[in-house]
Amino acid sequence: MNRQIITSSAEETERLGHSLGALLKKKGVAATVCLYGDLGAGKTTFVKGFASVFGIPAREVGSASFVIVAEYETAPPFYHIDLYRLGDEPCTEDLGLWEYIESGGVVVIEWAEKLGEMPDGALSITFRHRDEETREIVIEGIEQDELHALMREIRKS
Ligand code: ADP
Ligand code: MG
Repeated sequence: MNRQIITSSAEETERLGHSLGALLKKKGVAATVCLYGDLGAGKTTFVKGFASVFGIPAREVGSASFVIVAEYETAPPFYHIDLYRLGDEPCTEDLGLWEYIESGGVVVIEWAEKLGEMPDGALSITFRHRDEETREIVIEGIEQDELHALMREIRKS
């Protein structure tokens, strides 16, 4: 079964983020979303769309590259964690990351491989750079029909 989504612009990736955020918010469950992929693959672009579901302006997302955890007092609380700056040695003990992950809020984590361990029940999304404007995105942890609904939504304008 092909679970790969192709986006042809940053806007489409942002819209995919928005659609997944809306789906998880509607389900009303605590959710952790682990994002994987190289620099420039589209993770932060995706988070901008996702965060917009919580009323967070896209320009605020990822605006300070030195911030590891951006905490938003939304309902439910939203946490954008970016582990890029941790370097190659996963060293997360002192950051209290697992407290955020287990808080019952919605948590999106860039460079989640640096966590060392995948959070229980987390969704995982892998981004691959295909060419200038094209990205291959694979979402694991949602149902096939939910995935198809997301694919339809990103093509709508
Ligand atoms: P990451 O967080 O994975 O390092 P970013 O989202 O910060 O990546 O950067 C992705 C860059 O690629 C942005 O400049 C964005 O405009 C550009 N881009 C071009 N096409 C796409 C696409 N289809 N999806 C996401 N980003 C894209
Ligand atoms: Mg990023």
